[in-house]
Amino acid sequence: MQEKTYKFATKAIHAGVEPDPTTGAIMTPIYQTSTYKQEKVGQHKGYAYSRTLNPTRHALENALAELENAKYGACFGSGVAAIDAVLKMLNPGDEVITTDDLYGGSYRIFTTIFAKFGIKFHFIKMGELSELENTINENTKLIWIETPTNPMMNIIDIEAVAKITKKSNILLAVDNTFATPYLQNPIDLGADLVMHSVTKYLGGHSDVVMGAIVTDNKKIADEIYRIQNSSGAITGPMDSFLVLRGLKTLHLRMQRHCENGEILAYFLKDHPKVDKVYWPGFEDHPNHEIAKKQMRGFGGMISFSLKGNDRKEAHSIMEKFEIFTLAESLGGVESLTCHPATMTHAALPEKDRQEAGIVDSLIRLSVGVEDSEDLINDLKQALA
Ligand SMILES: *Cc1c(COP(=O)(O)O)cnc(C)c1O
Repeated sequence: MQEKTYKFATKAIHAGVEPDPTTGAIMTPIYQTSTYKQEKVGQHKGYAYSRTLNPTRHALENALAELENAKYGACFGSGVAAIDAVLKMLNPGDEVITTDDLYGGSYRIFTTIFAKFGIKFHFIKMGELSELENTINENTKLIWIETPTNPMMNIIDIEAVAKITKKSNILLAVDNTFATPYLQNPIDLGADLVMHSVTKYLGGHSDVVMGAIVTDNKKIADEIYRIQNSSGAITGPMDSFLVLRGLKTLHLRMQRHCENGEILAYFLKDHPKVDKVYWPGFEDHPNHEIAKKQMRGFGGMISFSLKGNDRKEAHSIMEKFEIFTLAESLGGVESLTCHPATMTHAALPEKDRQEAGIVDSLIRLSVGVEDSEDLINDLKQALA
């Protein structure tokens, strides 16, 4: 598939996978093996030991790279293990600039693991490019962005940030978990690395925890593979198989996530109990124009706050949901809800949380692919 360029739906189904050469099996087998017979000393078929490379994982790594319009993919045991691998490219004294409304787990690995090893992190409002330019110094080695951000759905102009990083020889990594390659391809916009929590939309069925890094740059890829093999936070063949299977419906699922997301966003906007609704598809969303420019749709992630901003009321609404399940995570076929202030973003200090807009009544929805009428009715009864 590498030579020709197919459209997304075709790639979602065929990228990275070939019928198994020995049996003709259409699905990539689960190569549940740690090691491989060598014909002669040092002579093997490309697979020597499964930490280094496993055929099922390899097929998935190629598939993810192709979906992001890149050449190289690497899969890890979780999204944060993928972040960990990128950060391990840095040295003590290096500095990283990132957003102030980052995914809580990213904030935690930055501040409690890598800060200890002498890497300095700046958390800024990335929307203001002047603030980014003012924070860059000669030690800046990496810009880490997420867009749309979690849970405030801010949009960062990837192309504009990439212009700045290219000029200064700084790596740009984009956490593309929320958008997925169906909606946005950061490599095409100038990013050096794309990170995914595969756990979410790519896997899509809430049955796997996995992360991935994708890059189009051979030097970066070699370094990531060296770290993947040396630190060993790999994913297993069974999980790789499940994600290969999930990817085949990514375009269908994302299309429905977007449709349902839009319907629910407008419903909430008109609801008398709701204060603010955060969804990048609204024309009055502060970054709507950037979203339109770099995304092909607006996704199924929505956050909203309540008039009166009462935490107890938010909790009681969430406990009344019948279809939306109260749970961490997102991006599965089933609709989920979470309370960022006490769940995903509990690791963020209170002050930073308030500044980022993660108020006490904020409720986040991961809109699934169920019937939209049923979802609306669930919101109606819970908010009543
Ligand atoms: C879940 C998530 C992560 C972390 O991924 P895990 O698979 O849970 O380790 C990173 N970034 C974003 C945006 C996420 O939603």
